[in-house]
Amino acid sequence: MTLDLSVLALLVLAAFLSGWLAARRSPATAVGAQADRLRRNYFRGLNYLLNEQPDKAIEVFLQIAEVDKQTVETHLALGNLFRRRGETDRAIRVHQNLIARPNLTPEQKSLALLELGEDYMRAGLLDRAETLFTDLVGIDAHAPAALRHLIAICQQERDWKRAIEHARRLEEITGESQAELVSQFLSELAEHAAAKNDAAQAKAYLTEAVTVAPVSVRPRLIEGRLAHAQQDWRRAANAYERAIENDIEYLPIALAPMLDALEQLDRSESIDAMLDEWMRRYPGISPVIKMARRVRERDGDAAAIRFLAERLRKKPSVRGLSELVDLQLANTQGEAREQLEQVRDLLRQLLDGQALFRCSRCGFGARSHHWQCPGCKSWSTIKPVHGIAGN
Ligand SMILES: [Zn+2]
Repeated sequence: MTLDLSVLALLVLAAFLSGWLAARRSPATAVGAQADRLRRNYFRGLNYLLNEQPDKAIEVFLQIAEVDKQTVETHLALGNLFRRRGETDRAIRVHQNLIARPNLTPEQKSLALLELGEDYMRAGLLDRAETLFTDLVGIDAHAPAALRHLIAICQQERDWKRAIEHARRLEEITGESQAELVSQFLSELAEHAAAKNDAAQAKAYLTEAVTVAPVSVRPRLIEGRLAHAQQDWRRAANAYERAIENDIEYLPIALAPMLDALEQLDRSESIDAMLDEWMRRYPGISPVIKMARRVRERDGDAAAIRFLAERLRKKPSVRGLSELVDLQLANTQGEAREQLEQVRDLLRQLLDGQALFRCSRCGFGARSHHWQCPGCKSWSTIKPVHGIAGN
């Protein structure tokens, strides 16, 4: 069951309890019958919800709301269901009507405001949503939820500075570290400054990002890329090395520019040692392919073919096989060459359209890397795919 659904289920239970209490307050003769009917209806609605049948749940809750106009929780559940079904206009109306009631408790009112804010967000009315969430944070009602929504809005608007303020406030209130998120936002600011050729400002944001989250990878990779562009090979190599130390999963992104920087520094022996270590520690094929190319440059095609074939026996990989076929092609003539070319084309077709990166949270697959998942909007959850067709 999703978090959203379990919250909704709690709301429905609350609605049931308040309906039951209301029924108990009615004259004694009516108590039994009305409480029974309410109980039956609430549990029917709850069942529909748990079975992910929101349409049927809405029908039942509409009936309840008709009989029992005072029950705030029923209306909250209804509005929530309308929003989940994409009927934001109806959700907004339900929640606005609720908020206009004079007899709401402060808790009920702030809950209705939070729901209305989510309706506005869903409807794309970000300004209105932002105002509501800011008010809720101001009166310290549902502040963590409101702050999470505010962060989501700032991300959508790419307002990273305000996103950082909200994330820091969220950390203060909940005690949950937001360091990785803040480091991502600072990295966005650094990218923006770099795009405007403001190297000093970019550097300042990157320094802050690694201070906030020393183990984060992205600021190191950005620093590596900027240093590489300035041909500051030592700084580039150091930054990439730190990135890989912090999380070896990002090796395929850092590998080529890092080796390039090391070659510029004339540190060929350390390249071999590093590739050896990465072949042991990294589960994918990328460092093996790089090493095979180095063997080829140094000792020729036959040595590279032997090296790669040996590695592929231990670690089967379509990408590695494709590299092996390319090596064989360079040394094959006649009919055998034509057949090898067909194999090469087949392998390329196999690799075409294969996702090279995948989100560990929602499964979104992509050919290129994203720091924020386009599917579920999580940060740092998209990593290289290993496996037989990965890198
Ligand atoms: Zn995702």
